[in-house]
Amino acid sequence: MNKNSKETWSKCLGIIRPQVEEQSFKTWFEPIVPSQLNGATLVVQVPSIFFYEYLEGKYVGLLRKAIMAVLGAEGKLEYSIVVDKGNKEHKPKLMVLPTQQTQTSESLSSSGTKSTASKHIFKSQLNSNYQFENLIEGDCNRLARSAGLAVANKPGYTSFNPLLFYGGVGLGKTHLAHAIGNKIQKNFPEKKIFYISSERFVNQFMDATQNNGLQDFGNFYLDLDILILDDVQFFANKGKTQEMFFHIFNHLHQSGKQIILTTDRPPKDLVGFQDRLHSRFKWGLSADLQQPDFETKIAIIRNKMAVEGVRLPDNVVEYLAYSVDTNVRDLEGVLISLIAQSTLNKKEIDLQLTKEILKNLVHPIETEVNIDFIQKSVADYFELSLEQLVDKSRKKEIVIARQLGMYFAKEYTNLSLQTIGQYFGKRDHSTVIHAINCVNDLIETDRKFKKSYQDLQRKLKINHVLV
Ligand code: ADP
Ligand code: MG
Repeated sequence: MNKNSKETWSKCLGIIRPQVEEQSFKTWFEPIVPSQLNGATLVVQVPSIFFYEYLEGKYVGLLRKAIMAVLGAEGKLEYSIVVDKGNKEHKPKLMVLPTQQTQTSESLSSSGTKSTASKHIFKSQLNSNYQFENLIEGDCNRLARSAGLAVANKPGYTSFNPLLFYGGVGLGKTHLAHAIGNKIQKNFPEKKIFYISSERFVNQFMDATQNNGLQDFGNFYLDLDILILDDVQFFANKGKTQEMFFHIFNHLHQSGKQIILTTDRPPKDLVGFQDRLHSRFKWGLSADLQQPDFETKIAIIRNKMAVEGVRLPDNVVEYLAYSVDTNVRDLEGVLISLIAQSTLNKKEIDLQLTKEILKNLVHPIETEVNIDFIQKSVADYFELSLEQLVDKSRKKEIVIARQLGMYFAKEYTNLSLQTIGQYFGKRDHSTVIHAINCVNDLIETDRKFKKSYQDLQRKLKINHVLV
């Protein structure tokens, strides 16, 4: 350290100190060691690349202002970073990095200490493709989505802290978590938002442990406004990581900063977690994400295809929504194959092409809609045996199921009323007419019944389209 550099830096600190909080000054400026002054370039030593990135991200404007005030308009700052401490054989290795060179003093004064460069360097890791606008709402995600919106509008000020989403793969947890981050970034550009998968967090943490970077690691996380941690189940049985996270969690929570978590199962079913962490997961709101229902899948398909600029015939959309019943990621996979195939073969996407492609991807669902199929579908839906369906029982639920069966038999087959009656326990044709009238009435008056009717109608209709 030469005397000039020391003097120069101490003058800079004199300018910086009143402009930052005491704690930040201690954390980020005191560890900096001035090492050389080459003309108007001051070289300072910082403990790690992480530290350098953070300084540049958050304080580049302030540093530049200080340097220029002390060294004049030509003043520059360079960082030297110890990347290898060295040993008896070789000297420590240093890396020299410049400060952001792009700004002029004019743009500096107009943008203050928050420079455009700082936004550049601090990367939130948010994926801008994941927004609320393209996260289709359905019963499957209504609570989670609206809690997410509430948090995005008032991060840290709702009782949803932490906000935790859980559910199986491909149901939109990561999408929703990013959507919140993106919306917060839009509403509050000054907030420091950071998205990270738990797996990366663990790796970063181990890296920091081995390379003396724990202090920086901690400081980075403690300074965030919004932390989004994806797939927390990955922390299971990782005691040290859990300890570190517990510390970060408490600090952020106490300072009114927002924490958003996702896991693949409800918090109560997470194993391999310290009790104290476990209990914190339940402090705020846990909301689950479920499989989308038929209507939601239809909307998701339409939305995705509109983005791709492809129009699908209605029967294809319905067929897809009906046959892909695992998760949204699989549904997207099918849509991508469909587009690829139709582009490669220069074929229109129609039901036949769709069926061909789906054959290899999901279970085929082709069956003729005949009386057996109708009876089986209705019995399954109401959790009855075939015998119960056609038997003499006059229990209300069974009568209703039986009447629906007759109704659909009339709608989907060419059988006469008399034959239908025979199939349903040797009843006569007036019973079938009565059943059809009852169904029509109930659709108008009974919401629960109407739902059963619609579910079954959908299943039969889809199969009917197929043959
Ligand atoms: P998870 O994190 O739960 O495994 P993702 O968030 O990665 O699931 O979602 C898988 C894919 O499905 C993503 O491409 C996402 O955009 C899409 N997706 C999930 N739910 C919806 C939805 N409700 N509307 C639109 N796309 C969705
Ligand atoms: Mg995910």
